[in-house]
Amino acid sequence: MLDQINGLHHVTTIGSDARAIDRFWTDTLGLRRVKKTVNFDAPDVYHLYYGDEMGRPGTAMTYFPFPNAGRGRRGAGEVAETRLAIPEGAAPFWADRLGTEIATDPFGAPVVRIAAPDGDAFALVESGDTRAPFTGAIDADHAIRGFHSSAPLVRDAAPMAELLRFMGYEETAREGEVIRFTRPGGTANVIDLIERSDAPAAQQSAGSVHHIAFSVDDRTAQLAVQKALTEQGFAVTPQIDRDYFWAIYFRTPGGILFEVATDEPGFASDESPETLGQALKLPRQHEHLRTQLERTLVPLD
Ligand code: ZN
Repeated sequence: MLDQINGLHHVTTIGSDARAIDRFWTDTLGLRRVKKTVNFDAPDVYHLYYGDEMGRPGTAMTYFPFPNAGRGRRGAGEVAETRLAIPEGAAPFWADRLGTEIATDPFGAPVVRIAAPDGDAFALVESGDTRAPFTGAIDADHAIRGFHSSAPLVRDAAPMAELLRFMGYEETAREGEVIRFTRPGGTANVIDLIERSDAPAAQQSAGSVHHIAFSVDDRTAQLAVQKALTEQGFAVTPQIDRDYFWAIYFRTPGGILFEVATDEPGFASDESPETLGQALKLPRQHEHLRTQLERTLVPLD
């Protein structure tokens, strides 16, 4: 069993309208834009990152906004909902702010469900998470702390449950179709696995989670995870340099793409903490496209 995984690192979603996404995550939800770069594999598309002050692992929500992407179709083989932690007692503030109702999650916590600009399924969930929030548009008593959990939906929970246990998660609760897995200690450490045997297959497009990434401290830990997963029979990619972290990817038995990402070097590796997310940052291999990209990428500010 792996002991290197710390919890969620980031969640990456497909979107369409970069400006609407940017306004939603900064003005409405109050996160900080911590990086404005491009999709390293499709550099004509932005890769936008939002999080706490530094975009620390466990807080980083990231987007690929493909301008003409249609809506995805929900179903099995994808993340059904991404949940962000808010302080206890903050749900009424958010329900009022977002013009919606307070609901309850399967385990009794107050939640406020949000439809993001592409219909992406997010929820704010009250928890005792004590991480210091970024206070831009929202005061510290109500501000989002970072990820609470991710809820993948699969037709058959057993092989996913086995994988999560191998990754160091323990089953801590079960309610109806939801099995809660928790990584002991830390934050952003909950996976709510949903089993629905008759769910149609998901079709990924705008509003769909593209992948979820789990945090490891560094490249040494990542290499150990890569070796162990490979020995379990998973096809794991080599370590890939994403400038702000190193990444490995593998497809899970439930169909969801998992990434394991390093906590180093972080988003302040190529710009100062004070000005994070303002300038368009390009990886070395795409720097020659700068003039063209500055003309074609929609301005965000
Ligand atoms: Zn990623």
